[in-house]
Amino acid sequence: MAEYDEETRLVLDAFESFIDEEIAPIAADLGDRLTDPRLGREQDGRPDETVVEAVETVRRRAADAGFYAMNLPEPVGGGVSKLTWYAVKKAAAAHDCPLAGRALAGPEGPKPLLLDATDDQHDQYVEPVLAGEQSTAFAQTEPGAGSDSPGMATTAHKEGDEWVIDGHKQWITNAPFADFVQVFARTSPAEEGRYDGITCFIVERDEFELTGVNNAIGLGGWQGELAFDDVRVPETRVLGEVGNAFRSAMAFLSLGRLELGAEAVGTAERLLDSGFSYARDREAFGRPIGDFQQVSAALARGKARTYAADAAGKRCARRLDAGERAVEDTSIFKWFATNALWETADSVLQTHGATGLAEGSEFANALARARVLRVVEGTDEIQLNTIAKENGL
Ligand SMILES: Cc1cc2nc3c(=O)[nH]c(=O)nc-3n(C[C@H](O)[C@H](O)[C@H](O)COP(=O)(O)OP(=O)(O)OC[C@H]3O[C@@H](n4cnc5c(N)ncnc54)[C@H](O)[C@@H]3O)c2cc1C
Repeated sequence: MAEYDEETRLVLDAFESFIDEEIAPIAADLGDRLTDPRLGREQDGRPDETVVEAVETVRRRAADAGFYAMNLPEPVGGGVSKLTWYAVKKAAAAHDCPLAGRALAGPEGPKPLLLDATDDQHDQYVEPVLAGEQSTAFAQTEPGAGSDSPGMATTAHKEGDEWVIDGHKQWITNAPFADFVQVFARTSPAEEGRYDGITCFIVERDEFELTGVNNAIGLGGWQGELAFDDVRVPETRVLGEVGNAFRSAMAFLSLGRLELGAEAVGTAERLLDSGFSYARDREAFGRPIGDFQQVSAALARGKARTYAADAAGKRCARRLDAGERAVEDTSIFKWFATNALWETADSVLQTHGATGLAEGSEFANALARARVLRVVEGTDEIQLNTIAKENGL
């Protein structure tokens, strides 16, 4: 059976050529600044101007070339299948160019939630994001509520024809750089419906305060803390329906899990190439270390886990393409793929001995990133809860 349909193969080939020809040279100019957590940083840990500018250039070029937001529906410039999106997300992570992933929309870019925009909002906010000219952020998590996001304390209430927003958010990807953020706030008490009564607002950069940068392991520094203190926005800033933002965001949960799992699989595939190659070349006790069964079995286990994760990812993508919810499938995939990466990165790092431990090595970065992937977009435990719930527990 062919791994991918023809359209996916064509898009994949074009994407890989685009990364080789247009994006890899930008990354090469920056050298270790993109991969060594001690370089390319401001004092507070956020990426410095050179790194941010490079990321912005990649975004604009990818948007011009039609790759950046190709997962969105056709009327907004996209239209590829979920399987194609899975394939390119995976390929970006498998590529050794550290900027490849930036060519595809992430939390800073056009996500399905933005399709709830009115025509005016679309022209003013969404179009510049689709073009890669501006960036955004999706602000749900806050100090007292992460996994349990409906427990949020941020509120918004109506005064005349304005909404008044008060609260704090943290760990919000791209918050330090976003031109506007999509902020989730409770607009009616939880007692009236825990999953209702949450509304999303568009809040512009000069209307909120950036109170800190959150530095996660694995080349972090892209996350920020936000304060909303009596922030007043007009009614025209409500994104989607009042009270429906949580349900709207939940509708796209499976897609987010597919994307993170794809990143995990692609990263594991790249690491395994290095691991097998190093095990063939590196000698100890007069023979290649791959001759030692403990080394070869660890890599073989990584290969088997990654192979199984990839098969699960493709199955999830096909089910989403068929219009299925795929809630259990994508939870299984996200949990399995990110844990497969965690174990594989650990084995490949171990295979490289001290070299693998060097700060900024691709193995150390991948291990840290794997750890991050097991928390974001639903933690390990939340995925397992979902699987259990889908099976009647
Ligand atoms: C790099 C990074 C990027 C992020 N980007 C964004 C972003 O763009 N926007 C955004 O809104 N948020 C973002 N987040 C936040 C992320 O979504 C939350 O960290 C995540 O949802 C977990 O929430 P928490 O950290 O508050 O942990 P908690 O929810 O407090 O969980 C703590 C621990 O308790 C466990 N736990 C909680 N509830 C249960 C349960 N019911 N059953 C079993 N175990 C449970 C969790 O699994 C976890 O192990 C980001 C975080 C990171 C690290």
